[in-house]
Amino acid sequence: MEKNSLLKLGFLILILGYINGCSSVHVIDLTWPLDNETVFWNKNTQKFTFTRQIAGERNGYWYAMNDFCIGEHVGTHLDAPYHFYESGWKVGDVPPHRLVAKGALIDLQNKVSKLGHATTLDVSDLEQWEKAHGTFNNETILLIKFGWSKYWYNRTLYMGSEDEKLNFPGISEEAAEWLANSGKFYGIGVDTASVDPGSTKDFKAHVIFSKNQMYNLENVMLVDDSLPAKGFTVVALPMKIKEGTGAPVRILAIPD
Ligand SMILES: [Zn+2]
Repeated sequence: MEKNSLLKLGFLILILGYINGCSSVHVIDLTWPLDNETVFWNKNTQKFTFTRQIAGERNGYWYAMNDFCIGEHVGTHLDAPYHFYESGWKVGDVPPHRLVAKGALIDLQNKVSKLGHATTLDVSDLEQWEKAHGTFNNETILLIKFGWSKYWYNRTLYMGSEDEKLNFPGISEEAAEWLANSGKFYGIGVDTASVDPGSTKDFKAHVIFSKNQMYNLENVMLVDDSLPAKGFTVVALPMKIKEGTGAPVRILAIPD
């Protein structure tokens, strides 16, 4: 190749690389993979199972296919309002525009390091966030980071117990009322197995959110420290199980 052509080629590669760099969107995945480690609620829950049907050469080409089976509330999933409110939306009823919205993140890891499993998101935490970052926007998906994702691969630590005595942080009744009454939130996400504390008996946060047509995102994978307190969009797309009380969901965050 002539020197001139080489220069032109190099220039073209540079330009293409630049265009590619500019157009690529920074996306943070907030979804745990579905595999043998996927956390399930209790022994009555249908765990994620993956059955290999076919994998191999067939008529001169490769062909692979699997089956899977999963409960609605296993792994990273969305709770539809119908889960805790008879007149609430089922998964298939949640309007799609509520699944793509501005995000906000409350980081409670410092609080958890002092209070441990008994930590709850309280009204004071919400007020403190607003003091630091301004009032919450309308039409927000709020994520709460207890720092629980680090326990994901140890179900006993993640659920707080080997038996049914669940023990992990969650949202207080008062904070749930505050969030619901504000009318600003489409959905609330947590990096634990439930928006209510593990020890709850009455699931107040679930009930309050459901009655206000808010959905929950549970077992959110919050491991990327680059996720800011605000200034990002959340995309949370559940499998469209028409009558579902919940469904596996793929959650992405896209910083502005
Ligand atoms: Zn659930």
